[in-house]
Amino acid sequence: MAKTDLPILIAGGGIGGFAAALALTQKGFPVQVIERAADFHELGAGIQLGPNVFRMFELLGVGNEMSHWAVFPDNLIMRDALDGTEITRIPTGEPLHRRFGYPYAVIHRADLHKVLIDAVKRSPLAKLTTSCKVVSFEDRGDRVVVKTEAGETFDGAALIGADGLWSAVRSQLVGDGKPRVSGHIAYRGVIPLAQVPDHLRENNVVLWAGPKTHLVHYPLHRGEVYNLVVVFHSSRYEEGWDTYGDPSELRERFAAQHPKVREFLAMANEWKMWVLCDREPISHWSVGRVTLLGDAAHPMLQYLAQGGCMAIEDAVVLARSLAQAKGDYNGAFLAYQQQRYLRTTRVQLTARMYGDIYHATDAVRDLRRQMLAGRTPEQAYNGMAWLYDGI
Ligand SMILES: Cc1cc2nc3c(=O)[nH]c(=O)nc-3n(C[C@H](O)[C@H](O)[C@H](O)COP(=O)(O)OP(=O)(O)OC[C@H]3O[C@@H](n4cnc5c(N)ncnc54)[C@H](O)[C@@H]3O)c2cc1C
Repeated sequence: MAKTDLPILIAGGGIGGFAAALALTQKGFPVQVIERAADFHELGAGIQLGPNVFRMFELLGVGNEMSHWAVFPDNLIMRDALDGTEITRIPTGEPLHRRFGYPYAVIHRADLHKVLIDAVKRSPLAKLTTSCKVVSFEDRGDRVVVKTEAGETFDGAALIGADGLWSAVRSQLVGDGKPRVSGHIAYRGVIPLAQVPDHLRENNVVLWAGPKTHLVHYPLHRGEVYNLVVVFHSSRYEEGWDTYGDPSELRERFAAQHPKVREFLAMANEWKMWVLCDREPISHWSVGRVTLLGDAAHPMLQYLAQGGCMAIEDAVVLARSLAQAKGDYNGAFLAYQQQRYLRTTRVQLTARMYGDIYHATDAVRDLRRQMLAGRTPEQAYNGMAWLYDGI
């Protein structure tokens, strides 16, 4: 395997950036992670993990640590947010584990991120830099030079843009403008378990599907807190997670919903807001010695709960492709893109469709019940096999 002394530069130290750093250092590549924030941190919120990503954790050698922090729910349940009736229930415990070979779990984003960061830090091949915003790059044929906002430069053998939805690397590489605003907004809150009354506690991922709204809740952080995600339609647009949500807006929009939904909404003191965006899928996100990974490559709506999982799959495929390429970065990046783009395109499009199903009104609400209510667990598993069987 031909390797230069120059590191592979990774713009962005989120879940995707650190998964890439881990996968690459394990294959013997030096890496340099460049993060714009002052430290590596993740939101205080949850993330669902399909069995497809547990296989990646095993390959990356972090399966046990992830399992230590994860909560393994018994079921995925969809309830109608107006009348409170159960629409469908998919067992996610032992039967799912048996069917797909790996479990379904939920985890605190900070726990997931920390396991990846700690694993990367154990490698002498990794260098990590914070407070450094990548603004542009130059592919010189034999190396890539990255420029930061402060005017610093980094020389690398190649560049991976893992800088998320508003990726600067994508902006230069693909040039397809701003993300597509979905018209949906998410509010996220976390509440200590002690505040959750007994009648609202359950070891399930529950989605309350309402007209143009939904609420998801599940226990998190070894069961010590409850994660709440509320989504509703709105025309607002703001970038990032730093904006606080307005609880009175929630009370108004969810006024007609089931008392249990309203009880959950009343419990969180603080909500963080996120304007949900994605992009049209593309088949070309690698040029020369530069490629994209995770949300920078294929940002998706969260309705399939797979954006982070896809970023981690990307990382494993990318590292494997580079390890086989004998120094041909362009060839490796094209091979990686080829192996990934149809799968990620399918997740992007399916996620949009799930959003329509969750937020259904009138006839579509009735159709949702008709289609989902009679499903056996086996039928539900078969429907997800293209995704959960993994790569
Ligand atoms: C409401 C919601 C719920 C979700 N639920 C799930 C779920 O259940 N399961 C799941 O798998 N996924 C879920 N996702 C998706 C998941 O959060 C993302 O797909 C995942 O975080 C993508 O990781 P990433 O590393 O590609 O990008 P990001 O997490 O956005 O990380 C990008 C990093 O790059 C840094 N950065 C940005 N620009 C620059 C720059 N110019 N220079 C240097 N650094 C830069 C950022 O500070 C950040 O650290 C959800 C998303 C949302 C919004």
